[in-house]
Amino acid sequence: MGERTMLALGKAKRGEGLTLERKPIPEPRRGEVLIRVQTTGICGTDVHIYNWDKWAQGRIKPPLTTGHEFVGVIEKAGEGVHHVKPGDRVSAEGHITCGHCHFCRTGQGHICKDVEIIGVDRDGCFAEFLRMPVENLWPVAPGIPNRYAAVFDPLGNAMHTVMAESLSGKSVLITGAGAIGLFAIPIAKVMGASTVMVVEPNPYRQQLARAVKADLVLDPTKDDVEKIILGETHNLGVEVLLEMSGHPQAFRQGFKLLRGAGTAVLLGIPSDELAINWAEDVIFKAATIRGINGRRMFDTWFQSQDFLNRNYKKLDPILTHTFPITEYETAFQLLRDGEAGKIILEIN
Ligand code: NAD
Ligand code: ZN
Repeated sequence: MGERTMLALGKAKRGEGLTLERKPIPEPRRGEVLIRVQTTGICGTDVHIYNWDKWAQGRIKPPLTTGHEFVGVIEKAGEGVHHVKPGDRVSAEGHITCGHCHFCRTGQGHICKDVEIIGVDRDGCFAEFLRMPVENLWPVAPGIPNRYAAVFDPLGNAMHTVMAESLSGKSVLITGAGAIGLFAIPIAKVMGASTVMVVEPNPYRQQLARAVKADLVLDPTKDDVEKIILGETHNLGVEVLLEMSGHPQAFRQGFKLLRGAGTAVLLGIPSDELAINWAEDVIFKAATIRGINGRRMFDTWFQSQDFLNRNYKKLDPILTHTFPITEYETAFQLLRDGEAGKIILEIN
């Protein structure tokens, strides 16, 4: 294979920041493949790791190569690998499940009790090469260009959230237009939502929400969100809430604006316990609450691929920046400042 070392971006030691360095190229083990990574996406999780926040300090054990959103080409297959071969273009589910817990054995691997995540618990994709179990591979349809195939993972979070409830003909409120909330907008429209309303405080992201054709984009720091949304919904509130911010104010506002018998689908992760008005906004409303974790394996991937095949161009306004991996500092700074949608990092 020529090279013996590869370029890799990750956490060299505990503390803020990431380091680009040369590391040995891994060998695929039995049941694994070695992937030559081409294009990756930066996730909010990578920014948490860069920032070395409380979550990262408790979870990340350096040295670690970060990154989990990618597309690449199989370079080498380990022993016992069938169905795929060198040259195949693949993305992959980054949650490596144990395969034998109650959840894995009942078709619910997305809530596996013993999951290992690439770029978090073991080396990830911000590198020229990545080692991956064959079960996790997703063969990418030939019509989907790399920059869209690189974001199967966060698109899948949005898809999983949207698909938790039928949106056909319904009014939908999305709280939080980060990359995942933004992806949820065109998906919700394709799934037939009658109205997609978005609440987002960051002006840059409000613009992106408009660019992907949200019907109404509101600023919770300036607009009378409750009055406007009630006005749009016969004074009843929205039929479906997709909570994609993790922020307490968005939770409260979202639940308050949920219509009786409505469904709240929760993806955003609050950093702490948080109070909502359970009696008024859940119990008396006879509301349904659905929690969302990761992507269903592999139902969500099939749905995401079908969506991308026909609609990948709709994501263009969200993929705001592309950088070579050597310019990672600029990319992370933009994300830290909230001045980006999804950033694509080119590896090869
Ligand atoms: P992000 O941080 O880019 O997006 C969150 C957005 O919420 C930001 O644009 C922020 O400005 C906005 N926001 C802040 N306060 C708000 C308010 N009061 N009302 C409305 N919006 C507000 O994050 P992301 O990468 O798009 O992910 C979205 C959420 O989903 C995060 O909480 C993330 O941790 C979580 N997440 C969950 C899963 C899962 O499996 N459950 C997977 C990935 C991400
Ligand atoms: Zn398991």
